[in-house]
Amino acid sequence: MKKYSDEYYNLNSPSVSDKEYDSLFKELADLEQQYPEYKNIDSPTLKVGAKVESKFSEIKHKVRLYSLDNTYSYDDLKIWYEKIQKNFGLSVPPKLVCELKIDGLAISLTYINSKFSIGATRGDGFVGENITGNLKTIRTIPHAINSAIKELEVRGEVYMPKTSFEKLNEKQRQNNAKVFANPRNAAAGSLRQLNAEITKSRDLAMFSYYGRIDSGEITINSHSEMLNFLKTQGFNVNPEYRVCNNIEEAILYCKEWDIKRQNLEYATDGVVIKIDDFNLQNEIGFTSRAPRWATAFKFPPEEMSTIVRNIEVNVGRSGAVTPVAILDPVYISGSTVQRATLHNFDEIKRLDINIGDRVLIKKAAEIIPKVICVTEHATNKEASFQAPLYCPSCGAKLVESAGEVNLYCPNHLACPAQIKAKIEYWVSKDCMDIDGIGDNIVAQLVNKQMIKTPADLYKLTVDDFMKLDLIAEKSAQNLIDEINKSKNPTLARFINSLGIRHVGKETSELLANKFLTIDAISNADIEQILTIDGIGEKIALSIVDFFSNSFNNEVLTELQLYGVVPRSVISDIVSEKLAGKSFVITGTLSEPRDAFSKLIKQNGGKVSSSVSKNTSYVLAGDNPGSKYTKAEALGVKIINEGEFRKLIGE
Ligand code: NAD
Repeated sequence: MKKYSDEYYNLNSPSVSDKEYDSLFKELADLEQQYPEYKNIDSPTLKVGAKVESKFSEIKHKVRLYSLDNTYSYDDLKIWYEKIQKNFGLSVPPKLVCELKIDGLAISLTYINSKFSIGATRGDGFVGENITGNLKTIRTIPHAINSAIKELEVRGEVYMPKTSFEKLNEKQRQNNAKVFANPRNAAAGSLRQLNAEITKSRDLAMFSYYGRIDSGEITINSHSEMLNFLKTQGFNVNPEYRVCNNIEEAILYCKEWDIKRQNLEYATDGVVIKIDDFNLQNEIGFTSRAPRWATAFKFPPEEMSTIVRNIEVNVGRSGAVTPVAILDPVYISGSTVQRATLHNFDEIKRLDINIGDRVLIKKAAEIIPKVICVTEHATNKEASFQAPLYCPSCGAKLVESAGEVNLYCPNHLACPAQIKAKIEYWVSKDCMDIDGIGDNIVAQLVNKQMIKTPADLYKLTVDDFMKLDLIAEKSAQNLIDEINKSKNPTLARFINSLGIRHVGKETSELLANKFLTIDAISNADIEQILTIDGIGEKIALSIVDFFSNSFNNEVLTELQLYGVVPRSVISDIVSEKLAGKSFVITGTLSEPRDAFSKLIKQNGGKVSSSVSKNTSYVLAGDNPGSKYTKAEALGVKIINEGEFRKLIGE
């Protein structure tokens, strides 16, 4: 969760959906309630945001900024409201204010003597980043307010309108620059720029939803009064807020906006429900990370309906041919979707899907779009879709593979689509991690027949790159530098990059740890490979098959010739003391867990992330988590650091 928070708050580049993060959060909160003795003072459930790792100077907030508790359930909203009524003995149901939860970045603005003087991010709630200069470029933030007030703090959400987000991404794509996953990340990335001119060029806006005046110059008694006051001072307050008399009215508001949100010009991920009366808010107070007087209802992941305009056939790096639905663009869970995978031709039959049909689309885990079902068939029967007989890229006759649902193009490196996919895979993050060579550059290199194999990448020169669209000398040199940087990968990374069928990251690690050099792997026979725990016959066959192919061997020789030499792991292995033993690590130890992982591997053992009955030992430090309990339940041996060190003879 800490890694996810860092990706989300500091890098503006989350790798999991909010729903996934929220369910981890809930699981942790439940566990902490069940086992309070294991609750860590460093727990994400006690924190707001992430620790700021910033290039900006720090601002200490005068009054802490909190997060919000959230739920996806109407029942939870009722429970929250009833608890307040009961705990505070309220005979009249308290008034609520419902506001759209704007999906952007929380910001605090301080006005001294009516002039905007300091603007900061929320950060961890106590300390934020000083981004005053950048905030001054946003039109919806007034530089001065209309009343004479010694000090006013206003908080709100900076966001990027959906159309501006689409335009920005289009521009980024054209410039081969980073594309943002959703408007929230785009807003956060645009705001945390060292050059305020860049922030200015991005169309950002702010909705204000909180005001604080300490001096008593103006008396405001409720949240709804505060919103009205903010409007009179020139702040942009979201017009859709509503004062509700009770929780039922608030739930109706949530239901209404769950439908209407699709038509909004900005992204919203839910509704914030707040107790209106300030005195009552003060009485109710806060938990360690959120107000008790407010809660957020989060909208369920969106499903949208749209029309299938075409079914294209995509050829992957293994030659597998997969159908992809080309859709009328729809905005769903934070981005515009125009393509959705149909997995294979059996799935097309199962869904009974044709060109012209209206279908329901959902983002699986809110990231990969998927067709759920057909909601209305096209009347035009001629549009009926047939699986292709020939490869759409090279024209080869497609073949079936025994026991698999996919069709395959048998043409390997004579098929441009397969070459592109293989090279895209080779340069990707989990493989050789060559920065800057995106799909667009790969497509140009393959189309101009400048490369056919990953080895060809290492032959390219600055002049070659300058033959591509929009690449000047400096960028060409950068690309060459990046390619050169990739030349000494770990052995596991190198094996993974080869794209051997059925061999992913984990199997690559197993192979690297067992055989230690690429030569040993390429010369291994099936029996030797099968001695590795975790590798079965199908994978072993595929590995042997790969290394007995003369073309693959030519590529490997060429790679070696160009200096692409994986780092050997020989020096890493120090003993076989833990051979055949698998470990799970939990809790806080004297060194980071990675150090223990390394020790286990260096002594021939394996490290796994979850406890099963096959786990040999659970190495437990202080405040161990649920893995400890699971190990106890399964009767897996639990050892402490001292016992572990004895095992490896330290
Ligand atoms: P949050 O975004 O769920 O809610 C609190 C924030 O809501 C406030 O700080 C404020 O910025 C915002 N907000 C928007 N409109 C508002 C309004 N009208 N009134 C009051 N506040 C309003 O909470 P958070 O602490 O910023 O972040 C936690 C959430 O972030 C998680 O629930 C999760 O969805 C997401 N997250 C995702 C990942 C990931 O990897 N995907 C990682 C960490 C956090």
